Amino acid sequence: METVERRKAREVRIGSVRIGGNHPIAVQSMTTTRTEDVDATLKEIHELEEAGVEMIRVAVPFEKSARALVEIKAQMRVPLIADIHFDSRMALLAMEAGVDKIRLNPGNISQRKRVERVVALAKERGIPIRIGVNSGSVEKEFLERFGRPSPEAMVESALKHVRILEDLDFYDIVVSLKSTDTLAALRAYRLAAQRMPYPLHLGITEAGKPGYGELKSAAGLGGLLLDGIGDTIRVSLSGPSVHEVKAGFDILQATGRRVLEPEVVACPTCGRIEIDLFPLVEKIEAFAKGLGKRPIRISVLGCPVNGPGEAREADIGLAGGRGVGYIYRRGVQVRKVEEDEMLEAVKEEIVKFLEEGAEVG
Ligand code: SF4
Repeated sequence: METVERRKAREVRIGSVRIGGNHPIAVQSMTTTRTEDVDATLKEIHELEEAGVEMIRVAVPFEKSARALVEIKAQMRVPLIADIHFDSRMALLAMEAGVDKIRLNPGNISQRKRVERVVALAKERGIPIRIGVNSGSVEKEFLERFGRPSPEAMVESALKHVRILEDLDFYDIVVSLKSTDTLAALRAYRLAAQRMPYPLHLGITEAGKPGYGELKSAAGLGGLLLDGIGDTIRVSLSGPSVHEVKAGFDILQATGRRVLEPEVVACPTCGRIEIDLFPLVEKIEAFAKGLGKRPIRISVLGCPVNGPGEAREADIGLAGGRGVGYIYRRGVQVRKVEEDEMLEAVKEEIVKFLEEGAEVG
């Protein structure tokens, strides 16, 4: 398989999770409840944790939302992020409540003194700050300079906020440049990757409902991830937040950035098909699922045309022939079996491969 050199961003610690450097790209989500409704917020948080989320962000628009954070933080496992706009008091309250990261654009806070206070507390507690620029809220000065919320305008806006923090000797920074326009987001992140050393939080904002929203996110973020860009990801869906978690991991798996589960690659079949493929794929998938979080790649192909070549790319591959199946392990044919023995033979080879502790790829 092809590999890509990952952009090496500065390492930032968010509670128990580290991003940047060589750390895994973390999957995060955001609650949809009113944060001050502690029971509802915790219910959603626990669902997200159950789904495997690695960080959770909550909106902190009011003092009552900030005051709820102590109780929320005490009853959750993953790092908590407070999303704050404009109001430095909310940032101070959230940090005092023990959040692990805040999302705040310092350029939106009216007085320098207030920014200094926020940064001093963040520094003292080792809390990073995410600067989140959105194409819909690029400041007037950049809209005037660039004529529209272009990728350049978004990156210049982010750099303005970054410089405020850097001037205060603060470098635990994460940056996001979200847009609902996939190409704008792609270009903005690529530009930011060249112009700043900080980890990038990837997202396509307001991607839509589950289904199309996941595809749109994958379309926008796939190019970046395949370029080695991105340190944490959030898929924004108009639906239950728990879908965002699976979507995030699926996008990382599909781009090969973070392969956590068995992947079964199967051909779509065509007129050259030699074996009864779909039921076989289903059974192999069910078997692979039962293996848990094992990053093994299995390919199942219907005929000898592309079969052997593709099967060679997998950890374990099966290529169908007339009434027979050829089984490959990392490109080497290891068995030839009758069609009715294929399923068992593939399962055996998978188990053997995992037991022998081969480094899966
Ligand atoms: S592997 Fe063979 S059967 Fe499957 S789609 Fe390709 S040519 Fe058709």
